[in-house]
Order: sequence, then C-alpha cells, then structure tokens
Amino acid sequence: MSQSPIFERICLIGIGLIGSSIALRCRRDGLAKTIVVSTRRKETLDRARQLNLGDVYTDSVSDAVEGADCVILCTPVGTFSSIGQRIGAHLAPGCIVTDVGSVKRSVIDQLKPHMPDHVHLVPGHPVAGTEYSGPDAGFSTLFDDRWLLLTPESNASEETMAAVQKLSEFWAALGSHIDVMDPDHHDRVLAVTSHIPHLIAYNIVGTASDLEEVTQSEVIKFSASGFRDFTRIAASDPVMWRDVFLHNKDAVLEMLGRFSEDLSQLQRAVRNGDGDLLFDHFTKTREIRRGIIDAGQETELPNFGRDVVQETD
Ligand code: NAP
Repeated sequence: MSQSPIFERICLIGIGLIGSSIALRCRRDGLAKTIVVSTRRKETLDRARQLNLGDVYTDSVSDAVEGADCVILCTPVGTFSSIGQRIGAHLAPGCIVTDVGSVKRSVIDQLKPHMPDHVHLVPGHPVAGTEYSGPDAGFSTLFDDRWLLLTPESNASEETMAAVQKLSEFWAALGSHIDVMDPDHHDRVLAVTSHIPHLIAYNIVGTASDLEEVTQSEVIKFSASGFRDFTRIAASDPVMWRDVFLHNKDAVLEMLGRFSEDLSQLQRAVRNGDGDLLFDHFTKTREIRRGIIDAGQETELPNFGRDVVQETD
C-alpha cells in the first residue's frame, strides 16, 4: 500500500537483516523518497544493489548521511561510537538520528558525544528478528505486529519529542506497535526477556556438545525434545550477540544473579524430591505462557522473545 513519504531521504547504515527489512518496507509502501544504503564491505554493498534495496549506495558513512532527514544505524552496537564520530559533522540540521540496536543506554553513551546540537537523537529497538543475517535475510513484513521501543532521554527537548512522534509514525507504517521507554529500563527488561535466554541457549548447546557420554548423532537425533529451539537461538549472529553482552553488562549480570538463585532453588527441589515446589513452579510458568498467547505475542516464544519470528527473532 503506497502512501506519502514520511522522510525525504533516509540513510541506512548497515544493510543486514534489519536494515534490508526496513529498506524493503520503505520501497514497498513509498515511505521515503530516496533510500541511501551504506555498508563497509564491497560484497555487501554489491548485493544490496543487486537486490535493489536503495537508490544511492556508498561505503562512506560521512557521504551517506549528507542531506538525510533520517539516519538509522543498523550495525552491531559495538560500532556506534566509531560511526558517530565519522558522521557527526556531516549531519543536516533537523536530522533524526536513530538506530535498531538491542541495547539502549550504551547507544546514547556512544553516539551523544558526537551529535551536533541541531540533530535529534532518538534510540530505537525493533523487538523483531530472526537468526539469519545479511541483506538476503530481510523481508518487508518483519516488523508487522512486533513491538518497536523508542528510548529518548527523560530530559529530551520539545523538538526531540516531535522527532519521537515522527519516528513513531514511521515505525507504525512499518507495521509495528510503538512504546516509549526509559533507556535503562529497556536494558533491564530486555536483559531478562531476550539477553539471558540467549546466553542460556549459547550455554546449553555448548554443554550438550561437550558431554562425552552423549554423541553428536544423538544430540541431532533427539533434538526435538526441547533442544532444537535452543540450537536455533544459539545460531544467532556471534558479532551482534557479543556486542549485546559487552554493552549491557550491568543489567545482564544483575538478572543472571537472580536467575542463578532461582535455578538453585529448582536444583534443591529436584535433589530433595520436592514435587510440590516443582508442580507449583511449572503451573505458574504455564500461566505466563498463556498470557503471552493471549497478548498475541506467541510467535516470539520459540525465539525466547527476542527479536523473532516468522521472524524467527
Ligand atoms: P546483520 O544482518 O549481521 O547485518 C549487519 C550489518 O552491519 C551489515 O551491513 C554489516 O556490514 C554491518 N557491520 C557489521 N560489523 C560491522 C563493523 N564492525 N563496522 C561497520 N559495519 C559493520 O545484523 P542485523 O541482524 O541486521 O543486526 C543489526 C542491528 O540490529 C544490531 O545492532 C542488532 O543488535 C539489532 N537487532 C537485531 C535483531 C536480530 O534479530 N537480528 C533484532 C533486533 C535488533 P558488512 O556486511 O558490510 O560488513
């Protein structure tokens, strides 16, 4: 469904799963008059061109942002400081600078020092994704019915709040439901709903493959009994997830502490044969699953609320 463009010139820095999905939806529905695609490797830029994801292609981020009224960083969060440094002086007055990174406080810390006063920084996070990467992985409906979280700082100016409004309109056109959240709160919520589940998946898949008494063929053969979903999550991009843990350290460690205490309680119940405790706990968690289904978010569960879905993320 074509509509009037929301942005004149949108610049996507990084054109992997998330960047290409944004580009495809902008193209499909005419959400930007011009789409500028920038990425560091020639192979990725060439592939983006073959897939017709943009109108302008460049490996220079400073050239890419010139004249853009919206710049979206779609690279791993560990790259933001360096990209901010290179684009700051080239941003047009009034430009909205945003991102899709899975952590939010660190994004503000990395980008803010490089942003001139005449631009509006509004961090964002689409809670949508899959375990696939690169420009071929994108699809135009990735964000349909998924949440998009915007995390402006609490002291944001009126102009920045107007930018929040415009970005909300943009993401709604991409199919998302919008919520505005404090950046630190975001990082704590996502630590428990997405980051810790990924860490558990990375850990259990490693443990299973290290067990000497379990052969590789048995791991594959009997994977349907719960293990398979973990392997899908543990197949997620190592660079992206390394950066998530490096840049959401405090919240992850805090939630991991809580998780370890609860796990110890279950361990004690198993050791002591405390069936009542196990039954009560499993009954409570079953209710949580039902609540997720009632909220229409059930497709996220196999990916553990991450960025799912058809997405699988
Ligand atoms: P992706 O498919 O792996 O694409 C990453 C893009 O970033 C590519 O264009 C890549 O460029 C570029 N890139 C990678 N390392 C870089 C570096 N060191 N310097 C400059 N550019 C670099 O990643 P994605 O899944 O779209 O994720 C992008 C962002 O979205 C991440 O911040 C992630 O936290 C967030 N996110 C992901 C998901 C998900 O499920 N995947 C969900 C929500 C949010 P080249 O190919 O040219 O190297």
